[in-house]
Amino acid sequence: GLHLPQRVRHHAAERPDAPAVTWGNTTLTFAEFDRRTTRIASALSSLASGSGARVGALLRMRLEGAECFVAAAKSGLVFVPLNWRLPAAEAAAIAVDAALEVLIVEAEFAKTAEAVREALPGLVVVLVDDVSERILPGVWTWDRLAASGSDTDPGLGDDPDAELLQLYTSGTTGAPKGVVATHRNLHNEPEALRIYRWRTDSVALDALPLFHIAGAGWLSTSLSAGVHVVLLDAFDAGHVAELVERHRITHAFLVPSAIQMLLDLPGLGERDLSSLQLIAYGSAPITPTLLRRALDRFGCAFVQRYGMTETTGSVTALTAEDHDPAGDRAYLLRSAGTPMPGVELAIRDIATGADLPAGVSGEIVCRSRNNVAGYWHRPDETARLFAPDGFLRTGDIGHLDADGYLFVTDRVKDMIITGGENVYPIEVESVLAEHPAVAEVAVIGVPDRTWGEAVTAVIRVADGADPTVAELLDFSAGRLASYKKPRHIRFVTALPRNAGGKVLKRALRENLSAAEG
Ligand code: AMP
Ligand code: MG
Repeated sequence: GLHLPQRVRHHAAERPDAPAVTWGNTTLTFAEFDRRTTRIASALSSLASGSGARVGALLRMRLEGAECFVAAAKSGLVFVPLNWRLPAAEAAAIAVDAALEVLIVEAEFAKTAEAVREALPGLVVVLVDDVSERILPGVWTWDRLAASGSDTDPGLGDDPDAELLQLYTSGTTGAPKGVVATHRNLHNEPEALRIYRWRTDSVALDALPLFHIAGAGWLSTSLSAGVHVVLLDAFDAGHVAELVERHRITHAFLVPSAIQMLLDLPGLGERDLSSLQLIAYGSAPITPTLLRRALDRFGCAFVQRYGMTETTGSVTALTAEDHDPAGDRAYLLRSAGTPMPGVELAIRDIATGADLPAGVSGEIVCRSRNNVAGYWHRPDETARLFAPDGFLRTGDIGHLDADGYLFVTDRVKDMIITGGENVYPIEVESVLAEHPAVAEVAVIGVPDRTWGEAVTAVIRVADGADPTVAELLDFSAGRLASYKKPRHIRFVTALPRNAGGKVLKRALRENLSAAEG
C-alpha cells in the first residue's frame, strides 16, 4: 500500500522496536508511534464532523505535530499546519478559509489560538502543553485527547485519493491559497529511497516547519520509508550541529539559507559532523559559491530538489553523482537536475504556451502523479494553475540543456524588465555573491522613470567588510552585460525571508519604495 498510515503500520509490524521519531529527550519506536497515532486518530474522528474535516495545527516541529499528521491520515481528516509566525489576524483568516473544526496548539501560540477561536465559534482547541487552564480556558489537553481515543484504528485512511494535507502557499506573491494534497500526491517513497540513498538505519533530521511542503514532505516520506526522524523545533544552526553529533544524523534537508548559517556557525570546525552522509537542499535557489563552500566543508553527498507546494514532491533532482565540482560537468552545479521518474517536464513560451526547444528560456511546466488537483475553494486560481493539457504552470522561468538538465533561472513575477530587456535576478545575484564582501544579496526591480524598472541589489555585507558602491559596481561591470548591471545598491542588516528560506522580494520592493518615497 502507498499510504502513510499503511506504511507506519507496516514498520510497526515488521520492526516494532526501531526508532520512528525523536523530539528532545523523547524517542518513540514504530510500535509506540503507531499505537499513539491510532488513539489520537480515534479521538480526532469523534471530535470532527466526518471524513474530510480540517484539523489545524499551530505547532513548531515537535512530536505532537508528527503524531497529528499521521493521526489525521488514519482518520480521513485533512491536516492543516499553520505558519505560527503569522500575526493572529492572518492566521485566523487562514483558519476561516480552511473551515477548521479542530486546532492543535502549543502554549506559546495561545494568543493566536484565541483569535482563531473568536473567528471560528465552535472550534475545538487542543493544547499540547501541560499548562492549559490558566492560558486558554475550556480547551482539551493532548493527554486528555489521547486518553479519550481507543486502540482501534478508525480505518478511514485507506483511500489513496483522499485529501490528507492542506498547506497555504507562502504568499510571497499574493494572498495565501490552500493547496490540497492527497495520499497519492504525497507518495514518493521509492524515488526518495533511491535518490536520498535511505536505508532503514538512516537517521533523518527534519528541521523545516510542517507548514512548508519540504518539512511535511520530508517527514511523511521518511516515516513511510521507515527511517528514524529527528525533529528540530525551529531552525538554529547551533542546534543542528548538536543534533547531528548527538543522534549521528545521516541525512538532512536544509534550505540554502540554513546551509549558509551552518557554514557561518562559530566553532563549526570543532564539531563532529562526520555522520552526515547526504544533505538534500532546495526550496529556493542556491548560488554556486555557497554550494561549492558546502561541498568542500561537509564532504558528504548532496542532492538538490526543485519543486513547489503545488507539485508536493520533487519535480527534478540534481543527484549526488551530478555534484562534481572538479569534473568537466561542474557547470551542473548551476542546474536543478533532471526530472524525477514519472514527471513530464516542458518549457513553454510565456505568452503563447508553445513548447520551446532545448536552450530557450520559458515557463517551466510539469505533469505527474505528485501534482495537486488544485486550490481549496478557488476554481479560478486552480484554472490558472494548469495549461489546457493538464500541465502545471510553475511560474518559474528556466531552460533545458541538450542533455535534459533543467536550469531554473527565475520566477516569472520576479523577472525585471529594464529598458525592454529581461533581466533574471538570480544571474545578477550569483555574480555579486562571488564578491568576498557580500554575505547575502537579493536583486529586485524598482520602478524607474527612464528604464521602467531599475536593477537594484540589496546586500548584507560580510562581517568586518566595508565595500564601496563603486567597487561593487566595477565588480559586476566586468561580469555582466551592461543592462544587467545594478543601477542601485542598498545595504541592509538582514534580508526578509520566510521560514522556507525564500527572500520575500515583494516585501523588499515595498520597503524600498516606502523608504525612497
Ligand atoms: P513553495 O511553493 O513555497 O515551496 O515555492 C516553490 C518555489 O520555490 C518554486 O516555484 C521555485 O521558484 C522555488 N524553488 C524551489 N526549489 C528550487 C530550486 N532547487 N532552485 C531554484 N528555485 C527553487
Ligand atoms: Mg508558491
